[in-house]
Amino acid sequence: MISVKTRFLTKFESNLSDEECWPWKGQIKNEYGVFYNGIKQVSAHRFSYEYFVGPIPENFTVDHLCYNKSCINPFHLDAVTLSTNIQRAALSRKTVLKHRPR
Ligand SMILES: [Zn+2]
Repeated sequence: MISVKTRFLTKFESNLSDEECWPWKGQIKNEYGVFYNGIKQVSAHRFSYEYFVGPIPENFTVDHLCYNKSCINPFHLDAVTLSTNIQRAALSRKTVLKHRPR
């Protein structure tokens, strides 16, 4: 039987750099990647954050610094309180950060 972690690692390209977005290759729901963790379906980017970075504090949301909802690159993720996330989202409407093609 394949472990949850092994299954997770097959759902994105592992040869991408830290700067690039890591698009989720598994199921997508409302633009966000979703992943079955063996118990229930969870957000792929939250699973990635906990896998690579550590536990997400209670009542924290994991924000995409790259604004790419299907990205699961832990370097592009930041655990913040919901109010910070909403403030950032409001700010991003004014100053939209875009990935430049390389
Ligand atoms: Zn990204």
